[in-house]
Formats: sequence, C-alpha cells, structure tokens
Amino acid sequence: MIDHRCRTVVVGAGVAGCALASRISRTDEVVLIEAGPRVGGAEVPVDVHAALTTPGLRWPGVSARRVAGGPMVEYPMARGVGGGSLVNGLVVDRAVEPLVAEEVGSSEFGPVDRALVAGLGARPVRLSRRRGARYAVSEADLGRVDLRAGAFVRGVVTEESRVAGVEIDSDGGGTVVEADRVVLAAGAFGSPRLLQAARLGGPTVGFGLQDHPSVVVPLAGTGAFDGLVSGAVARFNGVEVLALNRLPDGQSGIAVALLDPASRGRVTADEIDLNLLDDDTDDLARLTAGVISVLERLGDALRTEDLTIGDAVPPRGDPAAVSEWVWSEVANSAPAYTHAAASCSVGVVDARHRVGGVDGLFVVDASTLPAVPTGSSMTAIIDQVELVARGWSSR
Ligand SMILES: Cc1cc2nc3c(=O)[nH]c(=O)nc-3n(C[C@H](O)[C@H](O)[C@H](O)COP(=O)(O)OP(=O)(O)OC[C@H]3O[C@@H](n4cnc5c(N)ncnc54)[C@H](O)[C@@H]3O)c2cc1C
Repeated sequence: MIDHRCRTVVVGAGVAGCALASRISRTDEVVLIEAGPRVGGAEVPVDVHAALTTPGLRWPGVSARRVAGGPMVEYPMARGVGGGSLVNGLVVDRAVEPLVAEEVGSSEFGPVDRALVAGLGARPVRLSRRRGARYAVSEADLGRVDLRAGAFVRGVVTEESRVAGVEIDSDGGGTVVEADRVVLAAGAFGSPRLLQAARLGGPTVGFGLQDHPSVVVPLAGTGAFDGLVSGAVARFNGVEVLALNRLPDGQSGIAVALLDPASRGRVTADEIDLNLLDDDTDDLARLTAGVISVLERLGDALRTEDLTIGDAVPPRGDPAAVSEWVWSEVANSAPAYTHAAASCSVGVVDARHRVGGVDGLFVVDASTLPAVPTGSSMTAIIDQVELVARGWSSR
C-alpha cells in the first residue's frame, strides 16, 4: 500500500523531532511519525518518578549493560509525542523554544536542596514548567505538521542510492510513507538501530555512545517529602551534584555524576553497551574523587537538616572502598542520569547531518551530539536542531 507523497518525514516525535518538524513546517510539508501516544505534557506530573510510571510513556523491556562484565539493568526510554520531555527531570540551562526555564524558588527547596546550598554553594535548578505543570517539547507549534502518533517505523526505504520513504507498521503489513527527505530523530538507541537495520551509515553506526556515570549517595533521616524531587544543583571538580529530596522508595539521596566522561560504548541491534567506566580512562577515579569530596564537604550541612550519609557508603577515608562502591553502584543500580547520546557521532553524518552513501537521509537527535552534554541534554539537542535547520534553509 502506498500512502501520500510528502517532502520530509521525521521519524520520532521526541525532543529533536518535535522541535525540528515545527521548524521545517514553516516552509516545507512535514510528516512526523511517533510510535508512542499523543499526551499533553501538562497531563504528566512534573515529578520524574511519577512521570516514569505513567502508563504508555516508556518503551517496555529496554535494558543496558552499564559497565563491561556487569549485568543488564533497566534503562528508561521514553515514547510519545514529546519523547524524553514527557518523563524527564525537566532541567534546562535556559529557555530554548519551545521549552521554558523557570528558576526554582528557595521556598520550594526540600531538605537535601538546603543542605547542598549550605554545604556546596548549590544553585536553584531551572525547570521547563509553566504554572506548576510540565511544559514538554510537544508545546512546539505542530499546527502545520502531519503528526501520526501510535505509528511504529519499521525501516527506511531506499531506491538505489536515494531515500524513498519509511515503512510503518499497519494492519496486516507495512505502509510506505514516501518522502524526498527522511530525518531520523528516534533517539540515541532508536536512530542507530534504524540505520543498522537498513545497513546504512557505515560500520561505525552505534559507536561512540556516551552517558554520565553516576551514583546516588543514599541519605538517612528524612521524613516524607512531597515537594520537588530536585531543586538545587552544584558543580565542582568535574562532577554535578543534584539533590534528590525523594527517591522512588521514599528515601532521599544525592546524585553525583561525572560531567565529561571519556568512556564510550556502543549500540547494536541486540544490546546497549554503555561501557560507562572504561578501564582505559580515569572516569572511575574522577567520579570516586567527586563522591569523596561531596562526603567531605557536606557533613555539617547534612546534620543541620537531620540527615546522615547512608550506612551503605564506605567512609571517605577509605578511597579504595569508596571506589569499589562507586563501581558497583554504576554497574548494578538503576541510573541516576539517563542522557544517552553520541551513538551516531563517529563518521555517520556530515556537517549538514547527511548520512553518507544515501541521498536525502539525515539524523538529528541525541545520537548526533559529539558527546554527552555537560549541561542540559534538551538544551543541547534543540540548539543542534536550530543550527541544522538554519544550514538546510541557507542552501
Ligand atoms: C528519566 C530521565 C530524566 C532526564 N532528565 C533530563 C533533564 O532533567 N534535563 C535534560 O535536559 N534531559 C534529561 N533527560 C534526557 C533527555 O530527555 C534526552 O536527552 C532527550 O529526550 C533525547 O532527545 P531525542 O530527541 O534524541 O530522543 P527522545 O526525546 O527520546 O525521542 C525519540 C522519540 O522517537 C520515538 N521512536 C523511537 N523509535 C521509533 C520508531 N522506530 N518509530 C517511531 N517512533 C520512534 C520514541 O518513541 C521517542 O518519542 C532525561 C531522560 C530521562 C529518560
């Protein structure tokens, strides 16, 4: 069956896909195809834990090997119009259209925020929320976009060395949506896998994958807190330290993440291998040093809030034990930071984001960032979309 002809098909209505489709639709015809549902961002709680358990907004069964030799651990991967911005922490560096940036007020701080401000000079985070509600990237102007939610793209269709469209699942088979230009925006796992399935993009597709190695230092002593999960963040010595006033189990903690890891992993059809602590890098040593300095600097400020470091964390005076604990947490625990990126960063696209060897095929999303961003991923991705779209329109 042949569907209608269009100029551009964007695959995946996530952070990149919504922003890009909106931008292109000012001048061109665009079809935006998303496997997940269309849900208003404001219908999803701001609270990241509650958002992640909203039915239908996560791909089932996604897991990743976090360190070489470690187990597969569940990895939250969003689906739906808005992609990651439907379920994520909403932290942005600044307002980047369509997202907004509202600084958290100190009256909203929870106990861990206050401890981080007092002990580490942490600053309030900026959230993409409006009137207390989640403000997702699906707020982009999609009025001129032919949006098809609930449609899974099976593959890219090519004719000789040109892209011809994409094939979507439909009753009893596939439907081809024809296009002059196809842009993959299916995220750090989805885009390389679509290229691999079509044998496009060369042998390095999937290589270069990065995420932030991170741990949650558990805290004891807090009572139930029902305010913001995270209101304050600090950065020093190459780590980001984020308050977690509430964890899914009702406890609290402090997330410590390495901002600029050197480790690189790989996405294949069968496995996501994050390789977060490559032995050939000093990522484990740097993350351990960050954790130790958090333990050293926070003691008094935590006591003021009646908080203490959880028993599971070795004493800071025993760096070898802290390093072992950090490795084990990174390897085995559900991730504190989930900013997978850069899996199409190694020789897959050129400066205009064209995929080599096939005319009319592009990739623009977290996978084409050169590395995992040191700031907000959403800000970096939307900046990238704007740059690429400007380059295309100046041809
Ligand atoms: C729990 C969590 C917390 C986070 N917190 C923050 C934060 O506070 N701040 C921040 O800046 N970033 C945060 N991030 C990261 C951020 O959300 C991602 O970096 C961003 O969403 C990636 O954008 P993307 O466009 O590359 O992919 P996505 O936003 O993931 O979009 C990809 C879309 O493609 C769709 N898709 C995939 N395959 C197909 C297919 N075959 N057919 C059709 N559709 C398909 C998916 O359903 C999805 O909607 C967080 C992420 C998570 C999971």
